Amino acid sequence: MAASTVRINLDGKPINPLTILMIGAGGFIGSHLCEKILQETPHKILALDVYSDKIKHLLEPDSLEWAGRIQFHRINIKHDSRLEGLIKMSDLTINLAAICTPADYNTRPLDTIYSNFIDALPVKYCSENAKRLIHFSTCEVYGKTIGSFLPKDSPLRQDPAYYVLKEDTSPCIFGSIEKQRWSYACAKQLIERLIYAEGAENGLEFTIVRPFNWIGPRMDFIPGIDGPSEGVPRVLACFSNALLRREQLKLVDGGESQRTFVYIKDAIEAVLLMIENPDRANGHIFNVGNPNNEVTVRQLAEMMTAVYANVSGEPALEEPTVDVSSKEFYGEGYDDSDKRIPDMTIINKQLGWNPKTSLWDLLDSTLTYQHKTYAEAVKKAISKPTTS
Ligand code: NAD
Repeated sequence: MAASTVRINLDGKPINPLTILMIGAGGFIGSHLCEKILQETPHKILALDVYSDKIKHLLEPDSLEWAGRIQFHRINIKHDSRLEGLIKMSDLTINLAAICTPADYNTRPLDTIYSNFIDALPVKYCSENAKRLIHFSTCEVYGKTIGSFLPKDSPLRQDPAYYVLKEDTSPCIFGSIEKQRWSYACAKQLIERLIYAEGAENGLEFTIVRPFNWIGPRMDFIPGIDGPSEGVPRVLACFSNALLRREQLKLVDGGESQRTFVYIKDAIEAVLLMIENPDRANGHIFNVGNPNNEVTVRQLAEMMTAVYANVSGEPALEEPTVDVSSKEFYGEGYDDSDKRIPDMTIINKQLGWNPKTSLWDLLDSTLTYQHKTYAEAVKKAISKPTTS
């Protein structure tokens, strides 16, 4: 965008150019948010991460139209005194940094808790320096639905009051401590409570985002191609990996969990509205998801199989899926949320935001990207003789 165009917010007021510190800018969401901000706004980004591969295209070469508006800082926020200085230099801090892969929650619970709670130092620094904070939490803070505790044949299970998740009224329901899967959700819940308390007691200007399964290009990695061969990424990349390798898609515990998926590009629009409308976003917690895109994980696998056959021109396997137990796939201590439908009242009222992209369309563009980016590399990797 021409940096000279004056942008107007939802209340008709001009938006002043901001300096935004984005922590975790090199990840999936961060890379899309950087792209959007650079292409459509005059804001400056101090991009902080330990990795920069996913935003390399935005950092080089110097001739890019936004050169000078993005600066990369390779910093681990666990132990780097430069963090506070960067927060002081910025108008707004957006914190995306986290360990947020389900395969880690029960196998690396300490790292998960440290990453999502102890390392969330930006909260303290934003509060002490009177700086605005947008913090990324998760829909996992809701845990299980109330409806999941009703008898299987109870008609109340069909009543939205028992399953739709509302920011200001739904309880957070987790499993027992032995179910270490909840380490992530619980750490995220506690950091939300800390942020809320900083707002209430010390006047911190905050917005909390609860993403409901944002998916799209650049999500996670393909094992053995741009990530560790033994790594287990989130479901979109796991299924993409199987499709690329012509292997069966593994359905954990029958793939019965229900999820709603939102296209990353729709979700990023919501974040930009939060950035540019602080009077409407401060002090709020926002669900960001697409209640119209609900499927079981099994249905997601079937849909991805059909879309990928279209995209790649290769027929699907005769039996595209296989059932595996959660213990076999994730190990001891796994557990799951049954269903996650976001209530959209608050984000609608405050920011007028609605998601647009259907599940089929978002899978089509995402799998087209996966095929273009990885198909050749996967073919080469498969054809290499393995060394013994
Ligand atoms: P991601 O893993 O792709 O990105 C996180 C980034 O944070 C990574 O680039 C990582 O290198 C960086 N990071 C982690 N620890 C760091 C540290 N100590 N110092 C510096 N950088 C560090 O994840 P994402 O999907 O982009 O998610 C971003 C945020 O949104 C996370 O807080 C996550 O919990 C939340 N979230 C995302 C989704 C989703 O659907 N993608 C769902 C729920 C919650």
